Amino acid sequence: MINVTLVGTGGMLPLKDRFMASAYIEHDGHAVLIDCGEGTQISMRRLGLKMNRIDAILITHAHGDHTFGLPGLLLSMSSGCRKAPVDLFYPMEAEPIIKGLLLSCTSLGFELNLNPLSVNESETFKYPAVDENLTISTAVLRHNAFCLGYKLRFDKKREFLPDKAKALDIPLRFYRALHSGKTAMLPDGRTILPEQVLGPPRVPTVIVNVTDSVPFSGIAEFARNASLLICEGMYGDEGMGQAVYEKGHMLMQDACRIAKEANVKKLFLTHYSPANTDPWKYQDELEKIFPNVVISCDGESITLQ
Ligand SMILES: [Zn+2]
Ligand SMILES: [Zn+2]
Repeated sequence: MINVTLVGTGGMLPLKDRFMASAYIEHDGHAVLIDCGEGTQISMRRLGLKMNRIDAILITHAHGDHTFGLPGLLLSMSSGCRKAPVDLFYPMEAEPIIKGLLLSCTSLGFELNLNPLSVNESETFKYPAVDENLTISTAVLRHNAFCLGYKLRFDKKREFLPDKAKALDIPLRFYRALHSGKTAMLPDGRTILPEQVLGPPRVPTVIVNVTDSVPFSGIAEFARNASLLICEGMYGDEGMGQAVYEKGHMLMQDACRIAKEANVKKLFLTHYSPANTDPWKYQDELEKIFPNVVISCDGESITLQ
C-alpha cells in the first residue's frame, strides 16, 4: 500500500490554514517528500507524518515556497536520531541556492547525498531505498525558474500461480526465484521460465507531481494513465489565464484539462495562490471538465494499492 498525503497546498506564502505545497509519499515505512517550503516540518508534525522515514527529498525548483523549509526539516531529522543516509534531488541549476540553504546544516547525524538532475532532458532512475520496484522519472517543466516534474512508478510483482508450478512438478525451493523473475534450472534438466508460472503483468501505481508550470501538452504525456496526478492550480478565474501564464503558472481548469487528456484516475489540486482563499467555489465547474478532481486542503490523503 502507498499512502500519499499533501503536507501543504499553498503557493508563494503560507496562510494560517495552508502551508506550502508539498507531498509525502510513504510505502512500507519509507517515504519520499516532494518539496519542502517554509513550515513543511510543522505541518508534518500536525498531520502525524514521520519525518525520520524520509529517504529522499525531491525538490522541484529553487523558489522559496519549495525550498525554505529544508534546513529546519533536515536538522529536525538529525535531532530525531535519523542515521540512515538521505538523498536530496533537485534541478542542477538550483544547486547554488540549495547549497546556500544547507550552510546552516553543519552537523547532521546522517549522510546527505546531493543529486543534481538535468534541466535539459528527462531522467529516469531506480530508487530501491524505498522499494525495489520504484522508478523515479523527471520532466522538464515550463516555469520562470528551472523546474522539474516528478513521476514515482511502483511496479508490481506478477502473481505467482502455485497450481501451474505444481502441474509442472517444480520443487518448492524454486518458487521464490521464479516469482522474482529468475529462470529455474531443475535437477531433471528442464529449464522453467518465470512466464510459465506467473500471472499477467499488473498495472503499476504511478504518482505524478507537477508544480510549478504553465500548461503544455508534455505534461499530459508525462502523466499518462497515472493513478494520481498532483498538479498546481493557482486560480480558478478563467479571465486571469494570460496573467497567470506570464507568471509561469496555470489555472485549476488547466490542471483538470491535463488530467482529462492524460486519462489519470484522480487529480489532487494544490499550490493555490494566497488570493485564492476559496478554491471550492469552482467545484462544479471543475468537475464538468474532470469529475475525479479533488480540490485539496492540507492533509488531503489517499491510499493507493
Ligand atoms: Zn511555487
Ligand atoms: Zn515557482
